[in-house]
Parts: sequence; structure tokens; C-alpha cells
Amino acid sequence: MTNASEYAKKVQENIHQGNSHETEFLQAIDEFVPTIIPFLENHPEYQEKNILSLVTEPERVIQFRVPWMDDQGDWQVNRGYRIQFNSALGPYKGGLRFHPSVNLSVLKFLAFEQIFKNALTGLPIGGGKGGSDFDPKGKSDGEVMRFCQSFMTELAKYIGPNTDIPAGDIGVGKREIGYMFGMYKRIKQYDAGVMTGKPLEFWGSQGRKEATGYGAVYFAKHLLADLGETLENKKAIVSGSGNVAIYCIEKLYQLGATPVTCSDSNGFIYDEAGIDLELLKELKEVHRERLTEYIKARPSAQYVEGSVWNLDVEVEVAFPCATQNEIQIDSAKRLVKNGVRIVAEGANMPSSLEAADYFVASGVYYCPGKAANAGGVAVSALEMSQNSQRLQWETEEVDQKLDGIMKHIYETCRDTAIAHDAKDNFMLGANIAGFAKVAQAMAIQGLV
Ligand code: GLU
Repeated sequence: MTNASEYAKKVQENIHQGNSHETEFLQAIDEFVPTIIPFLENHPEYQEKNILSLVTEPERVIQFRVPWMDDQGDWQVNRGYRIQFNSALGPYKGGLRFHPSVNLSVLKFLAFEQIFKNALTGLPIGGGKGGSDFDPKGKSDGEVMRFCQSFMTELAKYIGPNTDIPAGDIGVGKREIGYMFGMYKRIKQYDAGVMTGKPLEFWGSQGRKEATGYGAVYFAKHLLADLGETLENKKAIVSGSGNVAIYCIEKLYQLGATPVTCSDSNGFIYDEAGIDLELLKELKEVHRERLTEYIKARPSAQYVEGSVWNLDVEVEVAFPCATQNEIQIDSAKRLVKNGVRIVAEGANMPSSLEAADYFVASGVYYCPGKAANAGGVAVSALEMSQNSQRLQWETEEVDQKLDGIMKHIYETCRDTAIAHDAKDNFMLGANIAGFAKVAQAMAIQGLV
């Protein structure tokens, strides 16, 4: 048998050859594979069974046409996808993203990350992801509804409460979930558990909307507690202004920190006194406005065009909550120069591979998305439990469970890193711990 490192390299090369145009997917692979070599060295049985090759190949990829009519009566078409990547630990679980940047590569990276993220939660869910290159921005409510209905007309053939349970992601919130759920119900039968992130008005879970942002802050809280510190009086950079960013900001305030930024795809707000959360919610959740509106109501703040990661201010904690690859190496260097100690990712793969490696090498506590942003999918799994019970739990109960799950994920990453002589390397810890669970289940289930 070749040694673990040669084996991993060979598998990685094969993946590159077979998926050569899928930049984001290959990035996720290149981040993942080298980190699990120490685990493979101790577990030759998984190398014998070639689990690494199996786990990097999706079980199923579904691509379909989504035809819909716009408000002018013109016929439009978008591309829809569902990646059913791995079901070793449970039914496929993961969100749907509607954004013009969506393509096969982006969804395969997201679904791949989701496998290990879901494994880390300790809950019985496999990994999947889906979406479309449809852009809900600037569309009327009627257009969004017709698109969602058409999307679900096709997707309904492949999902179900015991097979594949989609939820939201970028561009898919409770409005879109509502329309898709309605269409599923019309085509199939009433099955509350087929989607999560449902509105509270029917079968949704308390705390789901807040879960990803709160979860990322809880992760940082548990890490700081280990260092004998809290978030109290710490200044934070937050990127994004969607669901994840808004509730990350909310939880930061609750724990005594001061988030000074938020951003959208055009620019960012720098509000030295701290982001006005109520104003942000009003703009984004009620009126779906751009961030340029923020400074009209709060002239003391600044709106700056470009990336928030160009901001040159001293800061201890950073929460990238926007999208993949928002932090490139230059920004990582700037953050380190400005004293950042913790980078906790609310988004999926917001740091480029070079940036992530730089954080780790610089001694920054780098908390990768697949660990730090697992709170959203964790509460989705709790929503599934509530739907099965036909009960809705109280907010406090969900929140306590979320905090407990994030503590468990943090400790798993910490302890797994220590066990592999890589103290504080949470990237390695998260990858090995997630892989170990999935590989074990795959080996037990045989060659399927
Ligand atoms: N889209 C979220 C994520 O990236 C949540 C998925 C879910 O709730 O199923 O984890």
C-alpha cells in the first residue's frame, strides 16, 4: 500500500482531472484533502476502501430547466440544480441558493462542505445543496412566485422528508421557501418535513432565521471562554447584510461586542459607533433596500464602495458573512496587520485557500465555515425533529440547543486538532472530525 500522503495526492490529482473546470469545487477539495492525511495515516482501513475517492464523488447530480414567465409576458429560462452529495449519515440536507453566480462548480463545493458541516453537528443528516442562477434581486413578487413554482415542479420529483430536505441560502428566504413549499404540497401531499427554514406561521422553527449568525458568534464565544476571555468590548468587522450578517450583529451586541461594519455587493457601511441594527433590519428585512439608504438615515456613518475587507482599522474579531472568496490574501494580510485574533466564518468558504492558510500560519484562530456556520443547518435538523413530533419548541429551548451544538462543534475541532499535533488548527480539526464520522458510516454500509 502506498503511504497516506501519496494516496491522497493521487486522489486529488484524479479529482482535478475529472473536474478541471470546476474552480470552486477544486478549491474546496484542495483545502480539504491535505488536512486529512494525518488521519489516513492512522486509519489504513479507509485508504484500503478508497473512501476518499468515494466521498469526493457526488452520489447524484440533478440539473434541470426552469421556465417561467416575466411580468411582460416574455418567456424566460434559468438552470436549476440539486446536488445529492452524500447520504451516509442521513437524508441529503442543505440549502438552495438563487444567485447569478450559481453554477455546477459552486453548488458542488457547497454540497461537499455541507457533508462535513452536517456531520459535525452530530445530527443525522447527509449533505446536499441546490439552487439556480436566477436572480431574485429586482424581480417582482409575482415573478419570484412563478419562478419558485416552476423550480419546485421539477425539484419535487427528487426530494422528500426522508430523502432530501432543502432549505434556504443566499437569495432564498422565507418568501421563496413559502412559494416552493406551497407548490410541493400541490404536486405531492402535505409533508411538512420536506423543507426547513419554513415561516413560523406554518411548521417553521423558532430561532431558525437567527441560527447561522448566532451560531457563528457562539462558536467564537466558546473559543474565547477557553482563553479566559469574552466578547465584551471587542470591536468586530462583519461582512454581508443578509440573514447571517444581521443575526451575527445582533448576537455580538447581546454579548457586549461592537460590530462596526456590514456590506453588500457594491460597498460597505463603516459605523464607528456600532451598526444601527434596527435600521439595518428595517432596510433589509422590510424594504429590501440597498445599503446606500443607511447613511441617509445615519449621516455619522460612512458608505464606502468596494470590499469591506479593504477597511484599515484595528479589530480583534472578524465575521465574514457574505459569500465565497470574499477574503483574498491581501485582505488576510491587512487583517493580521491590524491585530485580528479570531476569524469566524458565517459564510461558506469566504476565505480563499491562500487567505485561510495565511490565517493559520499567522496564529489567528481561524474558524472555518463548515464548523462556525453550522448553526443554521443544525436548527434546520431541529426543525425536522419538531415537524416529526408535530410540536413547536419554545425559542429558549431551540437557542439553548443551538448553543450546546456550537460548543460541541468547537470542542470537537479543538480536540481533534490537538490529537493530530496541530493545536488551534480548526481547519484541520473540522475536516478530520467530519471526515472520520462520514468515512466510518460509509465503510459500515459497504460499497454503495
Ligand atoms: N444554507 C445553509 C448552510 O449553508 C443552511 C442549510 C440548511 O438549513 O439545510 O448551511
